[in-house]
Order: sequence, then C-alpha cells, then structure tokens
Amino acid sequence: MTENPRTRETRPQAAPASSRSGAVRETRTAQVRPRTEGWTQQKDAEGRPLLQFASPKRGKPPVHLADLTPAERTEKVKELGLPGFRAKQLSTHYFRHYTSDPEQMTDLPADTREQLVAGMLPSLLTEVRRLETDRGDTIKFLWRLHDGALVESVLMRYPGRITLCVSSQAGCGMNCPFCATGQAGLTRNMSTAEIIEQIVRANRLIADGGLGGKKADDHSMERVSNIVFMGMGEPLANYKRVMDAVRSMVAPQPDGLGMSARGITVSTVGLVPAIKKLADENIPVTFALSLHAPDDHLRDELIPVNSRWKVDEALDAAYEYYAKTGRRVSIEYALIKDMNDHAWRADLLAEKLNQRGRGWVHVNPIPLNPTPGSVWTSSEIPVQNEFVRRLNDAGIPTTLRDTRGKEIDGACGQLVATTEDEAASAAMS
Ligand code: SAH
Repeated sequence: MTENPRTRETRPQAAPASSRSGAVRETRTAQVRPRTEGWTQQKDAEGRPLLQFASPKRGKPPVHLADLTPAERTEKVKELGLPGFRAKQLSTHYFRHYTSDPEQMTDLPADTREQLVAGMLPSLLTEVRRLETDRGDTIKFLWRLHDGALVESVLMRYPGRITLCVSSQAGCGMNCPFCATGQAGLTRNMSTAEIIEQIVRANRLIADGGLGGKKADDHSMERVSNIVFMGMGEPLANYKRVMDAVRSMVAPQPDGLGMSARGITVSTVGLVPAIKKLADENIPVTFALSLHAPDDHLRDELIPVNSRWKVDEALDAAYEYYAKTGRRVSIEYALIKDMNDHAWRADLLAEKLNQRGRGWVHVNPIPLNPTPGSVWTSSEIPVQNEFVRRLNDAGIPTTLRDTRGKEIDGACGQLVATTEDEAASAAMS
C-alpha cells in the first residue's frame, strides 16, 4: 500500500554512468503487450474489456448514522420516539469516541441505549482477519459486509502521520489487468457509512494501542490523519457515497471526524466527467490520476476505461482540477518491466505535463506489486531510476513511492478476497 511520499521520499540513486550515457535507453527489448494468465479478462458484446459502472443490485446495508446529515439524524431519532438531542450524543460517541457499544454510553438512559444503537448504529463491518507487518506498523483488515461481501483496508503508521487506505467498492468494475481487485469484478458499491466505519474502527484500534510503533502509553490522542481512496474500488464510480463520506470526514466533531481535506486523497482511473464534478465541490482533497501510460496506444490496453476517456482528456481534467482548486495533483504510474517503463515514455509524459503548465503536478511512479497469476514484474532498479531522473530533469517533481504491505498482500493492486479469506469468513458464520 502506498501514498503520497511528501515526507518520506525515496530518492533514486544516481544512475551508473553507463546508463546515463544511454545504456538503459538503448537496451531495446521487445514491447510487452498486456496479456493475462490464470484468469480471463471479461469482455463486453463488442469484444472490449468489460467496464462495470453500475453497481449490481444487492440488498442495501442498514441505514446508519453516518449515512445521514446532522438534520436527518435528529429526525431519525425522533422517529424512534426519542428526543432529537440524543442524535448529537450518539454522534459524539461515534465520531469522537469511536464506539458503537451501548455499554459505553453512560450519558444515555440505560433503557433506551440498546434501542438507539440498534436504530442508529447498526453493525456494518465484521472483522474476519487481521494481518500485520513492519513490526506492527502496517495492518491489513479483512471485513465482511452485511451481505457477505468482503473488503479490505490497510492502516499504516509513518513518522508524523497515520494513513488509512480505504475501500469504496466491494471489488472493482474497471478491469485493469495488472490489479488483483480489477480481476475480480464489481460486487457492489459500498455505502457512505461502510466507508466511514473503516476509519472509525481503525481509530478505535489506535486508541486501544493496537497499532505498533509508538512506545508511549497514551495512544488516546492519536488517530488516522490521512485517508487514501486506494483500497478496493473506483471511488469516482461510487461518486455520491464517496463524496458524502468525504463530507463526514471533514465535518467538525461531533458531526463528523474533523479531518483535514488535504489529508484525503481521491485516486481514479480517469472518469473525466466525475473529475470535473469533483473540481467543483469546493472540498480541497488531494487528487490522484492513475495514468500508467502517456500514450493511448498502450493505455487503451492497460486501463480499459481509456476506451472512453483518452490520455489527453484525463490529463486536461487533472489540470483543470489544479486550476480550480490550486491543489497540486499526483500522477500514479506503476512501473512494469518492458511494458511502460521506457525512457521515451518518461520523456513523452514530461512533455505532455509541461505542455499544460508548470508546478501543477508531480509524478509518483511505483514499482509494480505482484498479483496472483501475474505474468508481469516490476521494472529493474536502474530503469526505475532512469525513468524518475528523466522526469525530474524535465522539471517535473517525481518521487518513487514507498510501498507498504507487500508481505501481507496489502500493497497497491493486491487487495482481493482470496479463497482463504472466503474460508475464514465462512468459518465465522
Ligand atoms: N481505482 C482507483 C483506486 C484504487 S488503486 C485507481 O485506479 O486509481 C490505487 C493505485 O494502485 C492506483 O494507482 C492503481 O493503478 C495502483 N495499482 C493497481 N495495481 C497495482 C499493482 N499491481 N502494483 C502497483 N500499483 C498498482
């Protein structure tokens, strides 16, 4: 799992003289074409990779306080036959104390607690498995939703911040062949509260001292500071619920989590109309575009949604995001050996970015993480360094992203419910 490396930069080592003088550029290997092994990419009626924008119909998760606006919460409490001000108390328990446990709610009359919790804070995520690595600094959660769908989130402690990578859909409909989530297809959209609950549960674990790293006894002041929508799903394909979740994240406590919008990163394959809408929301989240190729020829195959919105349209929309919000945008680029890591592609990317302006963008290449049955590998280190060097030399700030959680299949592109996960979930029910 990765994120914006603002504070922790992996500086590429200087390339050896031989590669600087062109050895890397001149070592021509055949262009690798995307192909798949061990799974068959689903196709639409015209034989193109299937794109699923609409969420398959499944039973809706129960309505939860975090799905509602503050006014709607009050209304709902009144419908339960209780005084409206109880809504604020419940919100305080949920958004400030990270609890849905009626036992903890001693400021509420004992005889109404159960009813309030059942009506307003129904259980949404059942923890199935928890995997840790980096001496407890990285934790991957596997959650079961009310209908049995499985999703994951990854919690990471960094010096000075705690990041949670959240899922916005169970599965993903974007069908990118190098991403394990994309290979599994879309199960359904997650609700606003299912998105928020991932954060609340992580905050509870942190408050209980469950995230490694910090030696101090008092974890009570610590909580998730950064959110990346880089778990399962395409956030902009679940636009309304994701934006409602973002609004709850930034709303001051106790109406929401009181987080800073700048610490929230929305990452997309490039759904252009939704990017434009996002730019008009007036919520200064950090925006990231998963580009992975600067030319349509390759991106058409690597990112199926490129059949709808081309590289230039996606880059124009990203630039527009910057122009409207003043927030520098990120370009994500998984470096795949002999596929998209060529020096000329670094140059073409720099050219396309510079054409649109200066200082509006930075590039985050990330060495490809392995996925089950994947036939591709990450680029060689000198090739990675050359790619980064060329962009930096062209004036585009570029940093290799730090990758976390590979050992627990918790890194970018690795989130998928495995047969082991399914078995663990079945064993619980
Ligand atoms: N659907 C969104 C967010 C989820 S993926 C998006 O595509 O942006 C988060 C990031 O991980 C994206 O940039 C995605 O392209 C990248 N990614 C997917 N598979 C990967 C892999 N195998 N190795 C490295 N990064 C990968």
